[in-house]
Amino acid sequence: MKRTSKELIVGGIRTDKRLPEQAREIKMKVGNIFSANGSAEVRFGRTVALASVHGPRPLFPRHLQESQTGILRVRYNMAPFSVVDRKPPGPDRRSIELSKVIRLALEPALFLEDYPKATVDGFIEIIQADGSTRVTGINALSLALASAGIPMRDLVAACSIGKVDGTLVVDLNGEEDNNSEADIPFAMMPNKNLVTLLQMDGILTKEELMKLLDMAKKMCKKIYEMQREALLEKYKGEE
Ligand code: ADP
Repeated sequence: MKRTSKELIVGGIRTDKRLPEQAREIKMKVGNIFSANGSAEVRFGRTVALASVHGPRPLFPRHLQESQTGILRVRYNMAPFSVVDRKPPGPDRRSIELSKVIRLALEPALFLEDYPKATVDGFIEIIQADGSTRVTGINALSLALASAGIPMRDLVAACSIGKVDGTLVVDLNGEEDNNSEADIPFAMMPNKNLVTLLQMDGILTKEELMKLLDMAKKMCKKIYEMQREALLEKYKGEE
């Protein structure tokens, strides 16, 4: 629901000078955390997500273990300084929900059945939040899992899409997110053509939704190429 009277799209141009189908500047870096088995940082404009992966490692206490499969645990956390008004530290309902949907978006890419009684732990820290933090976090954690050497069916690429001032757009920034008519976090395994996350807030016609899903798939293919390049950049030259 729109909370500002400000026009967010004037003459087809967004407040940060982007076209409707244009993402913010995207930056990816693999391997920033030396104590982790895998890690990555992904930036979508001012939104910054840092992800680290630990494991697979034995899961304790033992009663949490699954005898036939390993499990993925995900913690999504927004730093207190990630938004203009300080965010109270610690888990809240939103971060608990986001941790769960991020886990569900990534699980299909993993062969968890190969690690009975074990856990793979993924942490996402949002250093700066300017919209679309869960999808930025998914891109980072997907890269961190791959860089931990964990076999994957495919990388998971994610982006947000939505409707702002009557226009269909990709990669909503914070102001757009808070004033959108609809916003959709979306994730997929691009090579498998499988969607692993689709949430929606707001109202759209069926035609608008179909058009947005097309835009999201196109965007995710580009993100996937950038993820591949970030991984190659990290490991080029290594035996
Ligand atoms: P996502 O970040 O995945 O789009 P939301 O739609 O819940 O998830 O949040 C949209 C945006 O609202 C965030 O990216 C952030 O910019 C802002 N936001 C979320 N939680 C807070 C908070 N506690 N304080 C200030 N801004 C927040």
